[in-house]
Amino acid sequence: MQAPVLVINCGSSSIKYALIPADDAPRLEGIAERLGSQEARLKAKDARGEAHEVALPGADHATALAAIFARLDGHTPLAVGHRIVHGGEHFTRASRLDDEVIAAVEATSALAPLHNPANLAGIAAARELYPELPQVGVFDTAFHQSLPAHAYRYALPAALYRDHGIRRYGFHGTSHAYVSQRADALAGGNDHGWLTAHLGNGCSTCAVWQGQSRDTSMGLTPLEGVVMGTRSGDVDPGLHAHLHRQLGWSLDEIDAMLNQRSGLKGLSELTNDMRELEAAAERGHAGASLALEVFCYRIAKSLAALSCALPTLSGLIFTGGIGENSPRVRAKVIAALPHFGLHLDDAANQATLRGREGRIDAGDGPQLWVIPTDEEGQIANETRQLLERQA
Ligand code: ADP
Repeated sequence: MQAPVLVINCGSSSIKYALIPADDAPRLEGIAERLGSQEARLKAKDARGEAHEVALPGADHATALAAIFARLDGHTPLAVGHRIVHGGEHFTRASRLDDEVIAAVEATSALAPLHNPANLAGIAAARELYPELPQVGVFDTAFHQSLPAHAYRYALPAALYRDHGIRRYGFHGTSHAYVSQRADALAGGNDHGWLTAHLGNGCSTCAVWQGQSRDTSMGLTPLEGVVMGTRSGDVDPGLHAHLHRQLGWSLDEIDAMLNQRSGLKGLSELTNDMRELEAAAERGHAGASLALEVFCYRIAKSLAALSCALPTLSGLIFTGGIGENSPRVRAKVIAALPHFGLHLDDAANQATLRGREGRIDAGDGPQLWVIPTDEEGQIANETRQLLERQA
């Protein structure tokens, strides 16, 4: 068996990991969380899928990573694949993390001040602990570096782009890349135009033409675009000035409101969890029903707008926790796109749940797919491909 790849996703106080074998062998995965506190702990699933929890009081990223390596059942990974949120304009594909590349990741930290420093902490810890292992960075933004200028530029003074990198970057690239490649494999060939909807806690849409991202809903930050669990998505850019002048809100207050108290949660005044929202709407909760309506309408509107980037439309792909599990959301989004000749097979839609892949159109019109995303698997694949190219 070829050695597995260890995939790592570092947050400011957590490390998610998955050991991805080259074949269909079971994955070892888990999360170290609350790092930096006395409650720090590692939750790990073993090869039989059984969960184990270990207390790691006071652990930092390096201590947690050492604990993760100790639970890999004796496997030595081929390489470590790091998920990195922002690659700016430097990175169009996975890259080997040498000193020069790490300096370039540091240089993009201003564009993702909450995420990139955490990713860098994970890279530093992994390099120090395992200097002999290749470390590879896979960027959420890289897949979208194929956007044409007319899709990535904002209509702002050009100097803001030239001097400060203010442009649309897009995120969730690993997921959009994975599901569109999978749809190519299922449909045959790659001469396709797909509209993809990644609907999880964060949500984004993408137009993929012949395997390349041509436009996407997220922009400079992961706040732009469709409605999300707690993030607003698009608002009038005049909102900030209005709230500041009329209500005296500071920029930090406005930023926190848009990121943490908006979206499904803000609209419903209830929850950001789609399962709870659907149940509440069933019971007649008006806020939950409105949140669902706005969510689905805005996704449809975003997909319709992104269709401008595709010469022809092969079909739509739903993924992410909501896209994979909510027949109601899928049906509402499709119903809100009346001019695209989409025909949903209601029975197939209802039956495609819980991580199942399936085609849910009635066979006469663009294809409709549910494809469970696999960001860890995609990061492992891109890591392997890079090492093979460099071998
Ligand atoms: P993340 O973006 O954090 O990876 P996920 O992709 O797991 O999140 O998506 C989380 C969302 O998926 C939540 O809103 C959750 O309610 C929703 N979800 C999970 N299962 C279901 C389900 N059976 N029906 C509707 N929504 C679901």
